[in-house]
Amino acid sequence: MIDHRRLGRELELFDSDPLAGAGLPLWLPAGAAARHAVEEYVRELERRAGYRHVFTPPLGKRELFELSGHLGYFADDMFPPMALGADDEFVLRPALCPHHALVFRARGRSYRELPLRIAELGGMYRAERSGVLGGLSRVRAISLNDAHNFCALEQVGEEVVEILRLIRVAHAALGVRPAGFRLSLRGPGEKYVGTDDQWARAEELLRAALDGVAFTEAPGEAAFYGPKIDIQVLDAAGREFTLSTVQLDFDKPERFDLSYTDASGGRRRPVMVHRSLVGSMERLFAYLIEVHEGAFPAWYAPVQLVVLPVGDGQADAAARLARDALAAGLRVAVDEAGSLGSRIRDAARARVPYAAVIGPREAAGGAVALRLRGGRVLDPMPAADALRLIGAVVADRSPDLLPAR
Ligand SMILES: [Zn+2]
Repeated sequence: MIDHRRLGRELELFDSDPLAGAGLPLWLPAGAAARHAVEEYVRELERRAGYRHVFTPPLGKRELFELSGHLGYFADDMFPPMALGADDEFVLRPALCPHHALVFRARGRSYRELPLRIAELGGMYRAERSGVLGGLSRVRAISLNDAHNFCALEQVGEEVVEILRLIRVAHAALGVRPAGFRLSLRGPGEKYVGTDDQWARAEELLRAALDGVAFTEAPGEAAFYGPKIDIQVLDAAGREFTLSTVQLDFDKPERFDLSYTDASGGRRRPVMVHRSLVGSMERLFAYLIEVHEGAFPAWYAPVQLVVLPVGDGQADAAARLARDALAAGLRVAVDEAGSLGSRIRDAARARVPYAAVIGPREAAGGAVALRLRGGRVLDPMPAADALRLIGAVVADRSPDLLPAR
């Protein structure tokens, strides 16, 4: 069976060390390169959709999380507070929302600014028991693709529909195959904040946004502050988990006394929409490693092009191609050690999408023979054309290794 832990080790994407602690993986250079590409893509997608990115700290005063309700409703999943002094306690945050509520109220807000979309790919922490931890799928330090969209009530429907659209765009680029949509509702016997009226209104808005979309209902799977739409995917073992989510929250705007000035000068309370397009980087990559069996689309492959000079005589041509590839923004490596056959096998094992073989004939003519992951070999072409071909596939974020046209 495909296991992201085994592949992650083989491809040197990430590692763990007992000394670092369970559930606290180390992202190695190859894994970090892929993650950087994905983070940059998501940030750019959000920026074009009107999101404003912020940085906020991964820990905060105890009082912040008392105000947010996390210490009252969510303490079992949190690391215990750390005391610096008698009245000076800090908490590793279990969510980014409290800080983003502070960003909203950093100054007065007008209805003209809404929806105000505050985004961050930020760190947060969950005190998972060590028995359930493994690889990247369950971790204690989480890097979440998160945002909080502060809306007027009448904007919520359209905002949720637009978020669902962005989720589909991101999933298509990454090669995520959603297994279904789930409407997660309150269940009996759990702790929830907010009034029945708020819960009913939020549920109604989410149902309206799901108009025309097939979904299942899951009582008991709501957040403690509101119902949510979860986008479910299947891991390699067929287990379902939530990757992307959209949640409505009437409670936190009240707790933080958030308000904006409406068109007639009155004070109104915004609704807070919590959303993640692709979830945490850890869970996302646990999934992507398995679903692609390590063979990522070229745009986020750790090394996109490996250059293979056939002999010493082609070393200069190989170095030149690598330099040009780097200048064109590609992640490139040169492999000169060992027989050509073993180097081609190494490139295949590492799931490198493109290998450029340069023999004496190619070197003399400024050409390369491009070999695609999977074994297909293209006719020799000018080196510049090869780089253009790879650049076009990367720019399109295509799952294929040849340009569409
Ligand atoms: Zn949130």
